[in-house]
Amino acid sequence: MTVGCRSVELDPLSLVARLAAAVPPPRFHTVKYAGVLASAHRWRARIAPQKPADQADAEDAEPKPKRRGARRLWAELLARTFAIDVLACPKCSGRMKLVALVTDPKSVRAYLRGIGEPCDVPERSPSRGPPYWKSTVLRRKAGGGSGDAWA
Ligand SMILES: [Zn+2]
Repeated sequence: MTVGCRSVELDPLSLVARLAAAVPPPRFHTVKYAGVLASAHRWRARIAPQKPADQADAEDAEPKPKRRGARRLWAELLARTFAIDVLACPKCSGRMKLVALVTDPKSVRAYLRGIGEPCDVPERSPSRGPPYWKSTVLRRKAGGGSGDAWA
């Protein structure tokens, strides 16, 4: 684009490529505060709005991780995320506990065969050409001519 440009001709793939380039990576801070608005400033608590009472109670009621460190058990994560209790027995509603972890490939195959599940890895589908060069606008900019090699 140049100064004074009013419109740009884009095919759908070029538009998506430009939009995807504008999406920040995960956990990237797009708004940064400085001074007393910064999260680590010692006066931050004095100026930041307080949480409503009902939200503060809900966070206090949430169970803390039972283990030290930042990691949570998978059952806790499923309970938090999907509100399902994977450790509740579906027959008697009692508590279940992990008895064994099967990691031996032969044992895993035997178990999967026993319950009737497939135990072979499905074949990968063949790869396709790069979609970037299907864009007529980009091919024209790169001087690629008709670009039939990728069609
Ligand atoms: Zn049971």
